[in-house]
This record gives sequence, structure tokens and C-alpha cells, in this order.
Amino acid sequence: MKFRNFKMIGYVIYGRGSFDQLDEILEPNRKTGLPMIFLVDHFFENKPLIKRIPAKGNDKIIYADVTDEPKTKYVDSIAKQLKDEFGTISGIVGIGGGSTMDLAKAVSLMMNNPGSSADYQGWDLVKFPGVYKVGIPTLSGTGAEVSRTCVLTGPTRKLGMNSDFTPFDQIVLDPALTTNAPTNQRFYTGMDCYIHCIESLQGTYLNEFSKSYGEKALELCQEVFVKKNSWDDDSDDKLMMASYAGGMSIAYSQVGVAHAVSYGLAYLLGTKHGIGNCIVMNHLEEYYPAGVKEFRKMVEKNNITIPTGICKGLNDEQFDTMINVSLGMKPLWENALGKDWEKTMTRDKLRKLYEKL
Ligand code: NAD
Ligand code: ZN
Repeated sequence: MKFRNFKMIGYVIYGRGSFDQLDEILEPNRKTGLPMIFLVDHFFENKPLIKRIPAKGNDKIIYADVTDEPKTKYVDSIAKQLKDEFGTISGIVGIGGGSTMDLAKAVSLMMNNPGSSADYQGWDLVKFPGVYKVGIPTLSGTGAEVSRTCVLTGPTRKLGMNSDFTPFDQIVLDPALTTNAPTNQRFYTGMDCYIHCIESLQGTYLNEFSKSYGEKALELCQEVFVKKNSWDDDSDDKLMMASYAGGMSIAYSQVGVAHAVSYGLAYLLGTKHGIGNCIVMNHLEEYYPAGVKEFRKMVEKNNITIPTGICKGLNDEQFDTMINVSLGMKPLWENALGKDWEKTMTRDKLRKLYEKL
């Protein structure tokens, strides 16, 4: 048995208003003459948050276009722009949802690694540490703030740059930044966390480390989406910690069926991560009966509509593409169904599942 020796994030600050300590946090990490780059979710352009960003000297604010989830080409173009303009930089601060945080991680790595980010999609392919990087979530649920990956769609695959160099050096968890996120978006991203917990807690990779974090994250999600009758600051506080704990849980285990199937949708149809997971989860009673029952209860209670019929009219070739992408996520299937997963999840069975979505 070989145990995973995993790299954690460097520093964590948590609390409402902790964003305002960013200046003092960054100060010792500034290198003379080299700018700090703030990569900010385009949602915040012209919003009050921009005035609170401690940009000075030749620092630069770049708005991240997250209309589509991050692509390797986009990462490469931001890194090239920064190299052309500055040579190198003091660091990069990603402020936004999972997409912006993943972009910031990837750009940090590409400042110090040759070639294209597509060359590093996989496990432990990144050669050199990136520049100093900070993650500041404005949506809670993905766990991207703690994970050792940054998910990218490249020319041939949708896969992260998984490496010990990928985790942030610093994260700033300020739940006030998630206030006022649209109800649907908050639900979809929140459900990413809920689904991480179900998949981790029912997976074959589970150990006590993962379980401890997974159970806490699940409990917090249930308080927010099942027990409470309306959204308040306490919901944001709890969901931010749920995301963190959910991310810690999968750091030592893996996700499962919902994610494996949802990756196929994302690759072929561009379905977003949170909503894609929800679309799939809705049909997984065979694998996660209790989780799916509770999931449906949360959908109803929070007045959310989950899209249906998204695979209607697809042809054989398109179904095959999704099936190939999905079955390629071997560790996810093994975690969900055990070592003999290929006997349970045949191409035919997966096709029937996709047809239902
Ligand atoms: P997102 O980052 O894609 O953002 C979704 C939308 O919400 C965008 O339109 C964005 O502009 C907007 N938004 C962000 N913050 C907001 C706020 N406070 N108020 C209003 N709107 C806001 O959504 P997400 O669900 O956080 O992230 C999904 C991404 O995370 C995917 O790209 C997925 O691959 C990635 N992901 C990464 C990991 C990891 O471990 N690295 C894990 C899970 C998911
Ligand atoms: Zn996820």
C-alpha cells in the first residue's frame, strides 16, 4: 500500500472582511519592480470590489472572461501577454469563482514552465514551481481554493494540471464576497460541494482523513440547503467552509459517477461544471440512493430548475465522444465502483445513462 503524500496550500485567512487584509498579506511577497497581477472574474468589472483591490505601482488588473470554463489557449494567451509586458511578475491573485481561481493557478505555473499549458494536462507533468499565487473565492463549492489541480479544456482533453506546484500559496476566505450571487449559480456551485461529499463518502478510496472532512462539509451543506428557510450571512459563512472541507475530503479520496459523467457533457456540449453535475446527479439513484433523494429535496426546497433533455438528438458519434471522455476518468470510476468497475459500467450502460439526461 502506497499512501499519498499531498501538498497543502500555504496560508489561509478566513473571516468576513478579511479581503481588506490583502495589502499586508501581499507586501512581503512583492519583488522590487515586478507587478502583482489581479485576475478578477469579469462579473466584478465596475463593481465596488474593484476599488478595494490593493493595486499599486505597475500592478495590473486583468478581467477574466469566464463565459466559457477555462481553456488551455486562454491560459497561454494571458501568460504570454504578461511575459511580453513584464518578463516576469511578483505573483498573481485570482478573485472569482472556480473558473477564475483555476485560471490564476494555471497562469502562475505557465509563467515558469515552457510550452503550452496543454502539455501539462495530467498528473505530475509540471516541471517548475509557478510564481506566487493567491486564491480568493467569490462563489463557494468547487473546492478549487484547496485542490492540487486546475481544470482546463485543451485541444484533446478536459483535464487539470495536477501537481504539487498547483496549490495556492495563500487563500483568502471572505464569505462576504459571495453575498448576492444569483440563487441558481449559488445552488449549482454549492451542489458541486454536496456532490463531492456524497461521492467521496461513498467511494472505495475513503479513509478517516477524507471522511472527517467529508462529513463536516456534508453537514454544512445540509444546514444551508435543507434546514434553513432563507438565505442569510450565516449561509454564506457555512457554505464557504463546506467548500473548503469538501475540497480537503477529495484531496485524499476522489470524486465519482456524477463527475465522471458530467465531464463528458462538458467536453462535448460545454455544459458548466456545477449545472452538469446536477443534471447527472438527478439520475444516479442506482449509485447514490440516499444522496439523490436528498438532492431532489434540496432542488425543490430552493426552487431550482434542473435542465432535462440535453442529450436529445445527439448522434452515435457524439455519444461515443462523451463515453470515451467519461470512461477515461479511471480513478473516478474505480473510486465509485471498485477495482472491477469496467464490468459494471459498460459502454452500453453509460450510453443509456447519457440518453436519459
Ligand atoms: P464559475 O467560476 O465558472 O462562475 C460562474 C459564473 O458566476 C460566472 O458567470 C461568474 O462571472 C459568476 N460569478 C462569480 N462570482 C460571482 C458573485 N460573487 N456574484 C455573481 N456572480 C458571480 O463557477 P464555479 O461553479 O465557481 O466554478 C466552476 C469551475 O470550477 C469550472 O471551470 C470547474 O472546472 C472548476 N472546478 C475546479 C475544481 C478544482 O479542484 N480545481 C473543482 C471543481 C470545479
Ligand atoms: Zn466538482
